[in-house]
Amino acid sequence: MTEHFTGNFTQQEPLPEEAITAAVEVMRHGRIHRYNLAGAEAGEVALLEQEFAAQVGAKYCLAVASGGYALATALRAVGVAHGDKVLTNAFTLAPVPGAIASVGAEPVYVGVTEDLTIDLADLTAKAGQARVLMLSHMRGHLCDMDRLMEICDAAGIIVIEDCAHTMGAAWNGVPSGRHGAIGCYSCQTYKHVNSGEGGLLITDDEEVAARAIMLSGSYMLYSRHLAAPGPEAFERVKYDTPNISGRMDNLRAAILRPQLRDLDAQVTRWNERYRMLEAGLRDTPGLTVVERPEQETYVGSSIQFLLLDWAPEAVQEVLTRCGARGVELKWFGVPEPVAFTSRYDSWRYAPAQSLPDSDRILAGIIDMRVPLTFSLEDCALIARIIRAEVGAIWQAQGADS
Ligand SMILES: *Cc1c(COP(=O)(O)O)cnc(C)c1O
Repeated sequence: MTEHFTGNFTQQEPLPEEAITAAVEVMRHGRIHRYNLAGAEAGEVALLEQEFAAQVGAKYCLAVASGGYALATALRAVGVAHGDKVLTNAFTLAPVPGAIASVGAEPVYVGVTEDLTIDLADLTAKAGQARVLMLSHMRGHLCDMDRLMEICDAAGIIVIEDCAHTMGAAWNGVPSGRHGAIGCYSCQTYKHVNSGEGGLLITDDEEVAARAIMLSGSYMLYSRHLAAPGPEAFERVKYDTPNISGRMDNLRAAILRPQLRDLDAQVTRWNERYRMLEAGLRDTPGLTVVERPEQETYVGSSIQFLLLDWAPEAVQEVLTRCGARGVELKWFGVPEPVAFTSRYDSWRYAPAQSLPDSDRILAGIIDMRVPLTFSLEDCALIARIIRAEVGAIWQAQGADS
């Protein structure tokens, strides 16, 4: 009997009851704008910022409209301007080069290794080309962060971490987002907490925090923040920092706060699913599992494997056959950008660059979402289906050659 999977790869869990109750309360009082506060009320957004800062051990936190907005704000806050170059990963998602382009800067891509992390040798080689690295922890894979910070500190490079897939992750016990000068997170539906849209920015740098808050559209109401520097920091920047509105509202913050309290428990559930998938895929001929380093605390909200050096038609055949059995896989190497996946050469607003070693890896990256609505049995079934289809095509390829 041929097994089929019937689950939905984009269906998230409903929000916790506590979040629903908190949202209804905000709707009942109607004070949805973050600065619309009654009496001594702190407001949901300010409380969210205070709680998230404490959760990751950062001095300052700003909640904003999206993860991409947080990234662009981080670039502006460290002074990236029109015509500047910004180092970033060749393997990432469109909002990252998009944030760089939004401030008129140009991405300089750094290659990807078979571990799906930034190529530190390539980073070292390109370190002289920019004063900022926007480091994307793409699909939750953390590079050796100690080594990366050594390279960047030695070259005087400011590191902005894109933690869209690493909220809840850590390297050597240090939370993702706490290695560089700024950490940016997304609270979009497909990430680790869900407010539809939303983003968080953390930093220990008082001037960066003050600028980011001014940039986000705080008018002169910065004293209503609970995870912000004192008024003197704002005095220094308030006349020359433009307002580029991208605030978060109290409704989104209300539904995020209970989810952040649940984050560790959710991470455990994601990783149970991830490990079930990983175990089921291990030792499949032709398929390379991406090994996770011991120093890495990851969040298995998606899983990747490599079909390295496969013919493109064979990769496509695996995707088609898995798709026919209900298993939706994404291929980063596909020539035309599809849905959320795209390759660095499809971002044509940026100068063309050639990274042949990365092209080989990108051509083999297969990606799958792991929503928490999947059961462990679902994960075991999905792995059996992938294993069978990869095995069948691999054997056929061998027979052809
Ligand atoms: C989702 C995502 C972002 C940005 O998030 P939005 O909230 O959608 O703007 C940034 N980087 C990566 C790698 C992402 O996947």
